[in-house]
Amino acid sequence: MSVISANSGQEWEVVIGMETHAQLLCKSKIFSGASTEFGADANTHACAVDLALPGVLPVLNKNAVQCAIKFGLAIGAKIAEKSVFARKNYFYPDLPKGYQISQFELPVVIGGELEILNNKKIRLTRAHLEEDAGKSVHDGFAGNSTGIDLNRAGTPLLEIVSEPDISSTEEAVEYAKTLHNLVQWIGICDGNMQEGSFRCDANVSVKRKGDPNLGTRREIKNLNSFRNLKEAIDYEIQWQINEIEEEREIIQATVLFDPDSGETRTMRTKEDAHDYRYFPDPDLLPLYISADWIENTKKALPELPHQKKQRYQNDLQLSEYDANTLTANAQIADYFDNVVQIAGKNNAKPCANWVMVDLAAKLNKEEIANFADSKVSAEQLGGLILRIADNTISNNIGKKVFDALWNNEGNSADEIIASKGLKQITDSGAIVKLVEQIIAENPDNVAEFRAGKTKAFNALVGKVMKAGKGKVNPQQVNEILREKLQ
Ligand code: ADP
Ligand code: MG
Repeated sequence: MSVISANSGQEWEVVIGMETHAQLLCKSKIFSGASTEFGADANTHACAVDLALPGVLPVLNKNAVQCAIKFGLAIGAKIAEKSVFARKNYFYPDLPKGYQISQFELPVVIGGELEILNNKKIRLTRAHLEEDAGKSVHDGFAGNSTGIDLNRAGTPLLEIVSEPDISSTEEAVEYAKTLHNLVQWIGICDGNMQEGSFRCDANVSVKRKGDPNLGTRREIKNLNSFRNLKEAIDYEIQWQINEIEEEREIIQATVLFDPDSGETRTMRTKEDAHDYRYFPDPDLLPLYISADWIENTKKALPELPHQKKQRYQNDLQLSEYDANTLTANAQIADYFDNVVQIAGKNNAKPCANWVMVDLAAKLNKEEIANFADSKVSAEQLGGLILRIADNTISNNIGKKVFDALWNNEGNSADEIIASKGLKQITDSGAIVKLVEQIIAENPDNVAEFRAGKTKAFNALVGKVMKAGKGKVNPQQVNEILREKLQ
C-alpha cells in the first residue's frame, strides 16, 4: 500500500505503530484504595497515596493484574511469570511523586497479535500496567489560575504497544476499533473515549517506496476519537512527505493534534528512555503470576470476537461481511447468538438479516444504542423467524408481528399471530377461489398477460395478495395463477 505525493507524484510508504492506553475497569486505584469513579468533585477521590504524602506505600490492585492477564490471553500473548514495576521519573504539576509507576524492562504481557481487516495481523510488542497522572484544570479559579485535580492520579491503565506493522490510516483506525471492541468484550475497559478511558498515540513515519529502512517517526499524542485518529494521521503523512520532498529533515518528536485546525504541532522533540531514569520501584515487590491463575483466567474467557467471526462463517455459513457486522460489539453478538439458539442454525441467514437490518434500524430510530436494551427480546425474534420459516406467516406479515412485539401487544409471535388472525392461508382451495375471483374481475390484465406483458401478471398477483389481506402464501398464488391463466 502506498501514498502518492501530490507535489512530486512519487510513491511513499507509511509505517505506523500504536500505543494505546486503556483505563481498566477497577473500582479502586492501581496502588491505593481511592475510588476511580469519573466526574466527582476535584480531589475528593485522592487519598494519601495519590497525593504522594511522605511515608505512604503503594499496594498493588489484584484486579488490575487480572485485567492484564485477560487481555494477554485474548491476544495470544505470553504472560510474564515475573514482571517488575519501575519508576519513570519526570516533573509535572499533576504528578506530585515526581515519577509515574509503570513497567519497563519486564512488562506483564509480552507479544501477541491482533487481526484486523482482510485477515491482516498486527503484532503487539507488549502491554504493561501503569498509573494515570492527575489533571491540570486551566479554566481554574478566580481569574487566570490553574488548579490541580488528583482524582485521576493512580487510575489503573494498561498501555498496549504495537509493532510498526500498520501501513495506512485505514489500518490504524481499524486496529484501534478492533482493540476498542476487544477490551470491552472481555470486560476490562468501558471504552468511553469521551471520558478518556481509551486513547491512542499514533507513531507515524514515511519512507520512499521500497526503501528497506524505516523513516524517523513522530508520535501524535492522546487521540481520543476515531475521527481525530484518522484526520491526525492523514495530515501527518502529508506533512512528513512534504518536509522530506522539500529536503527538510524529520526530527523525532511528540506532537499534538488540533481538531479545530486539523493540524499537528510539535510539543517536544523526542525524549529517550534514559531521560526518564527508569529503575525498579523499591516500594513494590516483583509481580509473580502463577500458572494456575493464568489457567483459571483462560477458562473464564468468553468466546472472543475473532473466534465468533470464524464460527459464523464456518459453522453458520454467513458471509465475512455479516460475521464482521455481528461481532462489532459483544451486545449484538450475544443477541444474535440467542436468536439463533431459538430459530436454529438452518435459519442463521434470516436471523442475521433480522438483527442487522430490521432490528438495527428500529434501535437506531428509537435511539437505543445497545442491543441488550431492545424491546423485542432475542427469544421473541427467534420465535418470529421460526413462524416465517415454517410459512405460518409471510416475511411482510412478519414485519407487522415484529412491530406488535415491539409495542408489547403480545408476549410472543405465536400469541400475536393468533390474536390478530395473521396466520397465512395455505389451503389451496381458498387460494384457487381468490385467484378465480381476481381473474374474473380483471379481464384487461388477463388480456395484457396473454399478449405477453409480464407486468400484467405481477399486477394480478398483487391483487390476489390484497384480496387475501396479505395472508395468502405468495408462492402458491404465483403457481395457481399461472396454472389458471394457461
Ligand atoms: P519508545 O519506547 O521510545 O516510545 P518504541 O520503540 O517502544 O519507542 O516505539 C514506540 C512505538 O513506535 C511502537 O508502537 C513502535 O511500533 C512505533 N515505532 C517504532 N519505530 C517506528 C517508525 N520508524 N515508524 C513508525 N512507528 C514506529
Ligand atoms: Mg512511547
